[in-house]
Order: sequence, then C-alpha cells, then structure tokens
Amino acid sequence: MSIPLTPGKRGVVLGCGAAGLSVVRFLLAHGQEVALSDRGPAEALDPGQLEALEQLGVALEWGEHSRGFVLESDYIVPSPGVPLDIPILQAAAARNIPLLGELALAAGRFQLPVIAITGSNGKTTVTELVGELLAAQGIRTFVGGNIGTPLLDFFVDPGGYQAVVLELSSFQLELAGDFRPEIAMILNISPDHLDRHHSLEAYMGAKLKLLAKQQPGDIAILGGDDSRLDQAGTAPGVALYRFGHGATSEARVCGDIIELTLERDAARSVPPPERYRLEQTSLATAVNRLNAAAALLAVRLLPPLLRTPAAGATDIGPEAVQLGLAGFQPPPHRMAEVAMIDGVRYINDSKATNVGALQAALAGSEQPLILIAGGRDKDSDFRPLAELLASRVRHLVLIGEAAAKLAALFRGRLAISQASSMEEAVALASGVAAPGDCVLLAPGCASFDMFQGYGHRGEVFSRCVLQLKQETETAKEGR
Ligand code: ADP
Repeated sequence: MSIPLTPGKRGVVLGCGAAGLSVVRFLLAHGQEVALSDRGPAEALDPGQLEALEQLGVALEWGEHSRGFVLESDYIVPSPGVPLDIPILQAAAARNIPLLGELALAAGRFQLPVIAITGSNGKTTVTELVGELLAAQGIRTFVGGNIGTPLLDFFVDPGGYQAVVLELSSFQLELAGDFRPEIAMILNISPDHLDRHHSLEAYMGAKLKLLAKQQPGDIAILGGDDSRLDQAGTAPGVALYRFGHGATSEARVCGDIIELTLERDAARSVPPPERYRLEQTSLATAVNRLNAAAALLAVRLLPPLLRTPAAGATDIGPEAVQLGLAGFQPPPHRMAEVAMIDGVRYINDSKATNVGALQAALAGSEQPLILIAGGRDKDSDFRPLAELLASRVRHLVLIGEAAAKLAALFRGRLAISQASSMEEAVALASGVAAPGDCVLLAPGCASFDMFQGYGHRGEVFSRCVLQLKQETETAKEGR
C-alpha cells in the first residue's frame, strides 16, 4: 500500500541534511506544498541550495521547530537523525498529525525487487558488496539509503534500474510504514544507539520492522550465529535463509569457503552446494566471511525475482559472482592496515562506533593489541568487553568523553593510559608497542566529541601513523 499524496497537502520536513532534502524533492515532485524546518542556522545549506528551495516555493524555518510552522500541516517527515520524542513531535502526536519516514513514503512505489539490509554492524560492507556482485552479473542496481544516495532519490529517474539495494538504519526503520522489501536482511543485533532508543528492546523492535510487512514468497536472510535473531518472527509464507557457521545455515562459512545451499524443496533433487572462495580476497577476515555469506545469499536469490532480464543475462551465475568477490574492496576505516613500523602493525577501524564492532575487532585479532578506544558514549554498556580486553589487549589508550567511564570500569585489569588528542594516543601506543604487536584504533564510541565523524577520526589516526613512519625512517637513515 502506498500513501496517497493528494496534490496540495502540506508536508513539513524536519532536518535539512541529505535525507531531508531528498524528501523535499520527492514531495515537490508529487505536487505537495512543502515546508522545511531545521534547528540549525540557514548557513547549514550552501547559498545555491537555499536559493533553489526558495524558488521552488518551499517555506523555510531556521533555528527552531516552532509550533506555528510545524503543526499547521497534514503530515510531518522527520529526518532519520531527529529523535521522535522531542516536544514538537509529541505535540504533533497529540493532534494526530501523521509522522511519515522516507520508507513510509517509498512504500509500494518501487516497481522493482528491493533488497533491504539492516543490522548493528556490517550494513555498509554488505550493501556495497551486494551492489558490486549484482553489477558483476550485469544487473543494473540502485544502491543507496543510509549510505551514498538517499533512498527517495531513486524515484528521480527509476527507468534504468532492475533492482534496488538499500542500507537501512534503526532510525529510518522507526517510521517504516508499509515498506516491504522482497529480500529483507538482518545481519546481527548488538546494543547500539541506546541514547536514542532508550532500551535494547526498542532498538531491536525498530530493526525487526524490516520483516513486519513481508508477504508470502518474500525472502528473509538472518544472521544464524546471533542468538538475538533466533526469535525474529518472519511473516507467514516468507522463506527464511540463515548465514553463519552452523551446519544448517544455507550460507555456511567453512574457513575461507562459503557453501550455499539454495534449493530446499525436499521433493526435488537437491543440487550440490555452490562454493565460493574468499582466500586471497579482501573478504578473508572473521567478520567479512559472515558479510560475504549474507551477501551471496541475497545475490543468488534475487535473479528469479527480476522483472526484466539482466543486460548481460548470460553473466548471471556463480562464475561472475566469484569474479566480483575477487575484485571487492571494503569501504575505508574498517579494519584497514595503515602501516607496519618496526614490526608493529597499525590498523584503522574507526568505524567501530559501538561495542559490538569493537568486540568483533578484538575477537578477530590474532596479535597482541595496543588498543586506542573511547569517544562519545551512546549510553553503552562496555562491561561485555572485559574478558576480551583482558585476554587480547596489552595496553589500553583511552581518548574522548568516554575515557573516564572506561577507565573506571577496567582499571586494575590491564594497563591503561589516557590521551587528550589522537596525536598523543598514537605516540603513547607506539611507545609501549613491541615487534609483533598491533596498534588498533577501534573506539567503540561515536566520534563527534573530537572529530567531524568516524571518517575524520580515521584520517587523523592514519596521518599520525604515517608521520610516525616517516620520522622512524628518517631517524634510521640518519644513523
Ligand atoms: P555499518 O554500516 O553497520 O556500521 P560497516 O560495514 O560500516 O557496518 O562496519 C562497521 C564496523 O563493524 C566496522 O568496525 C567493521 O569492522 C565492523 N563489522 C563489519 N561487519 C561486521 C559484522 N558482520 N559483525 C561485527 N562487526 C562487523
């Protein structure tokens, strides 16, 4: 069911980021009277964008979400970053003004099969991998959502596509409406964003909305190693596939081989499993084996759902997929080696912004670690890290607002230092590292206390490491 957008209705969009602006474009294209309200200053937009909005007749409000501006509307579209419990939205609820998210607006309007991907960690990696493996088979795919292109931009020019792949966050899923993906993927669930959702149950509830509107014949792909997903309820008639290390997983991780069993109809003869090799690809790490297994299920289950034949239909199949795996480069700031200096490896995992990702980074590391962690806390419970920290980490260097909380939790269990900048953190870490160690940046926290984002944090770390490398080499040459 798509939401009817009767021309002339007034919709107010909250937030002028990339997602908010794409909602504005979408609503204008549907003949809506559009207003945009942002708590920040008008300077948040570049002058050209501002002028374009004014010319298109969009009413603008800056510096606040006022009752007069926001509540005189037929519906409100909060951007994903806007918490749903702020006073203006409580006032809207009291007046029964509907809140619509991007997904609710898109629901029923994609005339193509949609693969939607969520989870606490791995979303971006899997979304990009699915996009590339479909491209490797000649399938023209729109890739967007929580990464890159906002999802409503698909409707600007949908003509050339055969499939849609969306990365979705828990914030986007809170207002999913009747959105129904033909293939829904939940990779894993570990606590995150509790400052916004307030409880693990509410956070999980948002993620599980991905499955709520699926229909018979649709497909759900769930992480099989994650006990929190054991209870995930799929709608009647939905085909459930799991990926993981378990013997019954349809996509089974066996070392660097992924075994795919797609045919499950006992009445038919079951062909041997498809085998995909990850050795000598960038996917041969503990977390990326799982990510690859998830992605492989999606790309091998999609072709029968395509409504138009792929451009190079002869390409569809395991050989093209295997080539796609070989060519895949994971996105930056995820377990990326920056340098080797005097036998010490330096790894940038700045995108480890929650406890689950930090846990995975520690569990997957084979060398003794000097860990740089900390940043902005999201009301996280760091206690589950205790054992892995004690067994894998030789020295913990803490940064940012969460440093005191982390130090209080782990003091006495391992060596801890505190640093007030990334430069100092890298210097401290290199000072205690011995050949054979690995200095790992995996903060387990958001970055906004010290940086513009995780990418900025990773870049500053890499710069410090590369400078250290240069200084070390210069010192050697001078000897
Ligand atoms: P997301 O988009 O969900 O944040 P990313 O692919 O950007 O996921 O990875 C985020 C962080 O999680 C990185 O630190 C990465 O190393 C780690 N990671 C990636 N895949 C997984 C996984 N399947 N399980 C746990 N951690 C993962």
